[in-house]
Amino acid sequence: MSEKRVYTFGNGVAEGKAGMKNLLGGKGANLAEMNLIGVPVPPGFTITTDVCNEYFEKGKEKVVALLKNEVENAVHHIENLMNCKFGDVQNPLLVSVRSGARASMPGMMDTILNLGLNDEVAKGLAEKSGNERFAYDSYRRFVQMYGDVVLGMKPTNKEDIDPFEEIIQQVKAERGIKLDNEMSVDELKKLVALFKEAIKNQTGKDFPTDPMEQLWGAVCAVFDSWMNERAILYRKMEGIPAEWGTAVNVQAMVFGNMGNTSATGVCFSRDAATGENIFNGEYLVNAQGEDVVAGIRTPQQITKEGSLRWAAQQLIDEDVRASQYPSMEENMPEIFAELNAIQEKLERHYHDMQDMEFTVQDGKLWFLQTRNGKRTGTAMVKIAMDLLREGEIDEKTALLRCEPNKLDELLHPVFDKAAQKQAKVLTRGLPASPGAACGQVVFFADDAARWHEEGKQVIMVRIETSPEDLAGMSAAEGILTARGGMTSHAAVVARGMGKCCVSGAGAININYKQRTLEIDGVLLREGDYISLNGSTGEVYLGEVTTQPAKVTGDLAELMELCNKYTKLVVRTNADTPHDAQVAHNFGAVGIGLCRTEHMFFESEKIKAMREMILADTKEGREKALTKLLPFQRQDFYGILKSMDGHPVNVRLLDPPLHEFVPHDLEGQQAMAAEMGISVQEIQHRVNSLSEHNPMLGHRGCRLGNTYPEITAMQTRAILGAAIQLKKEGFDPHPEIMVPLIGVVHEFDQQEKVIRDTAKQLFEEEGVEINFHVGTMIEVPRAALVAENIAKKAEYFSFGTNDLTQMTFGYSRDDIASFLPVYLEKKILNVDPFQVLDQKGVGQLIDMGVKKGRSTRPNLVCGICGEHGGEPESVKFCHRVGLNYVSCSPFRVPIARLAAAQAAVEE
Ligand code: ADP
Ligand code: MG
Ligand code: MG
Repeated sequence: MSEKRVYTFGNGVAEGKAGMKNLLGGKGANLAEMNLIGVPVPPGFTITTDVCNEYFEKGKEKVVALLKNEVENAVHHIENLMNCKFGDVQNPLLVSVRSGARASMPGMMDTILNLGLNDEVAKGLAEKSGNERFAYDSYRRFVQMYGDVVLGMKPTNKEDIDPFEEIIQQVKAERGIKLDNEMSVDELKKLVALFKEAIKNQTGKDFPTDPMEQLWGAVCAVFDSWMNERAILYRKMEGIPAEWGTAVNVQAMVFGNMGNTSATGVCFSRDAATGENIFNGEYLVNAQGEDVVAGIRTPQQITKEGSLRWAAQQLIDEDVRASQYPSMEENMPEIFAELNAIQEKLERHYHDMQDMEFTVQDGKLWFLQTRNGKRTGTAMVKIAMDLLREGEIDEKTALLRCEPNKLDELLHPVFDKAAQKQAKVLTRGLPASPGAACGQVVFFADDAARWHEEGKQVIMVRIETSPEDLAGMSAAEGILTARGGMTSHAAVVARGMGKCCVSGAGAININYKQRTLEIDGVLLREGDYISLNGSTGEVYLGEVTTQPAKVTGDLAELMELCNKYTKLVVRTNADTPHDAQVAHNFGAVGIGLCRTEHMFFESEKIKAMREMILADTKEGREKALTKLLPFQRQDFYGILKSMDGHPVNVRLLDPPLHEFVPHDLEGQQAMAAEMGISVQEIQHRVNSLSEHNPMLGHRGCRLGNTYPEITAMQTRAILGAAIQLKKEGFDPHPEIMVPLIGVVHEFDQQEKVIRDTAKQLFEEEGVEINFHVGTMIEVPRAALVAENIAKKAEYFSFGTNDLTQMTFGYSRDDIASFLPVYLEKKILNVDPFQVLDQKGVGQLIDMGVKKGRSTRPNLVCGICGEHGGEPESVKFCHRVGLNYVSCSPFRVPIARLAAAQAAVEE
């Protein structure tokens, strides 16, 4: 059998290409592609993601045996192109071993550099390069990385520090030096010896000297890292399936640590935070690999413009900047020019913003990685619209480039301008990820997660973050770090999460032990409030007030584009004029669900409501309802007015009545006193309302059918408000919806009450209103007999919360006891109340629409419920031919984008 497991690349030739991401991982596919388009890339090979799955099925030994031939040949391939030999003492080849999954998972898995070194080879490398420092710097880095990643020296407990770091600190302390690059050659040699000793002590084994053995160890460790804790957590957060696996890339080393004509860096073809078309990035002279990201030394800017901006933010004087932190543009002008040309070429080739990694070895530039860069929601929209205007992509591509859920960030509140002006600025860091955040200071990831669970808003403050902090970062409103640049871990991850982040705020002093933070003499403790402006890098004392976001600029243009392609209309779920207005500003054209029950909870209304519930005669109920009528009419007046000219779908009273009466003695006593009856009487009624299974009990249209006078009052209120508006010159479009229909006569009889009431009201007022009567399809039976219901109902609204509940038989209120286990065990992949179950519940919707339209061809169908704002569910609604979706106000733009994408994808 000749299944191909290894793909080589080098010198402008490659067996893979960009389109093979699934097999080669993102990194491997793009390394191949860069070769094909003439970008300088060190030669190497990629072991496929399929092998990763094989590895977990068959185990280490079997897979190594299967790979042996191909890997050995591929190593020879590199040797030939590089003109040196793996393990050779005079002319050694060193390689890196790098993970690379289909979707980028920055920093989640492991990379090993400088592999192939042992005592003899290091000596040879020193002679060959004439640079002993470089050789032993590489060697000590290799032993450390190999020890950590392959030999399991990295502490699993995050309180413990890496044993190698401890040794480095000791060696530096002995001589009173601070930076790694201040160590002498002898000290580097000493590190190697001490590292090996530590490995021997802890693992009982000698450091492997055979390069081939080292290589297999590293390859297997990269596969193993696919299953490490942080990789699993990251996949969970991003919804990446474990079956995708990671590829392994083995690549000839190029060295950024060969002296002052060498460097390493990271760059972006556009600004990942704002989306502006500005080439930017960071680099370090005489450094290797992750040094830039790790925050060990202060990285320098690539462009002069960026460098000036950075210095201004950091309050660094120009002469200090120019001498100590010059940009690459100033420091290495020729290399900068080449870098700049290649970044442009790559962006034009991929038609998208690129995030690139490079190394300069003794004056020669090498690219080590390119990928479509992670970006904030703001940058996502701006970049898509800019690329469209530049003619790089077409309208449909621009629409598909934007991820609906990421719009969420643009819809969040921003700082109130006036409040921001008055706020005390504590300090300033780098504007790493935009947004406005306020919360209580916490210093540790697990505290952030726990406080968040308790309902608190927190700002996570760290010297710098590492992948272990992921869960905490995700729980925090914002992240503040003392160290690290625009490409630091905190910055990259925060932008990916769409979370506000200020990084590298050098003036803050953090004391983890005492859980305090000091800025210019101001001392803050854990739990104190601060606010962050991720767009300016400012840190404020206390809570700065925010105001709602607006749809303007690029977002407005994107929304226009949505309108051009979309077929689905987006309405909103709103119960108050305020919510209706917010949604209208976000582009909702109508209300898909107006619930009426909340309206009864304010003081006077709840009294009348309770009186109605307690009454045991129809007359008694009608008397109480008469008191409620004016309140309800006023509520509907406001809502219809705020959605003038657009349909407003009002649902008749739905929840079980026991929700309106007090269940505690105190409340019952107060109610008794107010109503002038005995507590016993009240308790008696409350008890009689109690049900074994309220979700399946006396609720929905079962209320209206047992107490038609409630339906009549609500009809009067809705249509009365409409009449008043019409008299004032407005254009109201009320719709009256009967909930929880299962049997056609449940609808018939309610409809009759509505129409009779309307007729009487119109006669009284001398004004007629054009209105519709429809129903919710939320009991499975209703979907099954939809053709009969549609003969009477003028429209359907799929109430997918109840429909999901009754189709699965899962109580919405009780699901928390088993859902986590179900998700854990993969019995369910997602919470069906959040993401519509297309296979099961979806069938009922599809059937309901088809059957309904078989008897009423122009039947208007929509969806209300949580799913109406969930992008995948919205796309499903498009495919089954619904007319509209309805969602909460802040999800309206998200639904609009998802709807447009569905139309484009079709
Ligand atoms: P990650 O996926 O975490 O970004 P990478 O595999 O990209 O890890 O490796 C991290 C860094 O190591 C790269 O950005 C690059 O600086 C350095 N590196 C990897 N391979 C090589 C190589 N062959 N030569 C020089 N540097 C390398
Ligand atoms: Mg990388
Ligand atoms: Mg319902």
